[in-house]
Amino acid sequence: MTGVRELAFIRSGRLAWRERAAPVLSDPGDAIVRPFIAARCDGDTLPIHRPVSRLMQAGIATRAIDPVVGCICGRVPFKGPFAIGHECVAQVLAVGSGVRHVRVGQTVVVPWAVSCGTCEPCRRGLTSKCATTTSRTLAAYGFGPASGPWGGMVADEFRVPFAGHMLVAVPADVPPLRVASASDNLADAWRGVVTPLRDRPGGSVLIIGGGAQSIGLYAAGLAVAHGAAAVHYVDDDPVRRQIAEAFGAHTFPAPPRSRRRRTTALRYDVVVEASSRAAGLRRALRSLARGGVCTAVGYYLATGTRVPVMHMYATDATLRVGVSHARAVLPDLLAFVARTGFPAERVTTLTAPWDDAPTAYAARTTKLVLQRDTI
Ligand SMILES: [Zn+2]
Ligand SMILES: [Zn+2]
Repeated sequence: MTGVRELAFIRSGRLAWRERAAPVLSDPGDAIVRPFIAARCDGDTLPIHRPVSRLMQAGIATRAIDPVVGCICGRVPFKGPFAIGHECVAQVLAVGSGVRHVRVGQTVVVPWAVSCGTCEPCRRGLTSKCATTTSRTLAAYGFGPASGPWGGMVADEFRVPFAGHMLVAVPADVPPLRVASASDNLADAWRGVVTPLRDRPGGSVLIIGGGAQSIGLYAAGLAVAHGAAAVHYVDDDPVRRQIAEAFGAHTFPAPPRSRRRRTTALRYDVVVEASSRAAGLRRALRSLARGGVCTAVGYYLATGTRVPVMHMYATDATLRVGVSHARAVLPDLLAFVARTGFPAERVTTLTAPWDDAPTAYAARTTKLVLQRDTI
């Protein structure tokens, strides 16, 4: 058996290379790809930086944590070993006889969720809720067996089904490192600000950052680049505030308040809640202007997270929660980056050699990107 290496999450703070069988084209619609850039999703830091598995098991047992978490990560959440990683830019190594629009040698983004492109949810743009591939809550790379047999993206090579639909070519002038996170976090930021700003051109934007660390920063950059009237970014971390400022956002270590806060507190047309905290979510919803929309991109694990519904009623607020449908937004997102040169790589705080993945992937840094040569 010829094996390939893939990065495995073992337990909190510990990752390792594991050997597995080399992927093969098992369906005419498959492709085999070789990732050469991989980024670490903000969500992956949860089990890596904190020993949450036991705590979450206890939480699910007592219903303090919503049991649906188990449908995503398995009955024992974040129990290693499992192959981790779901953001990458790859080269196409082989395609099945039925694959159209993708050729060997092409540089592509692989969306984090596995979708078919033809079922009803896929046609509605809900590609991460694909009816063909999803048996429980998610069909995705890098979340463990509960989300399917797909493995992780920090691997020598891996198989992509429905490749003609799944794989999105990186435009020729776009440096691949720029779109290292397009598979998930950059696309998540896109839906958080670009989509709502379309209905609210020139609207004001608030980003509450620090939990989903890179998503908040991408969102701040994308909001400025899409002509938001004001972009306010809140985060206690000075390094991230500096990145947000480089994008042209105004930053605050604590929520911006006017002096007479009750009567003239600032209100925003678009809010991205990326602190991953219930208090952040409540603050986000109370910061909305009339008819505003808040997208919550963090994890809120509690069975009943309190939100100010009556306040939302009074302001005609919309709260959007759920996973990002990266595949659906990738063509627009990549075309935008190609057209404008949007410097998404500004968010990357650590670039490490591919072979160092087991140590680098555990680094306490905002955005890790792994890189190796192309072939
Ligand atoms: Zn992710
Ligand atoms: Zn589908």
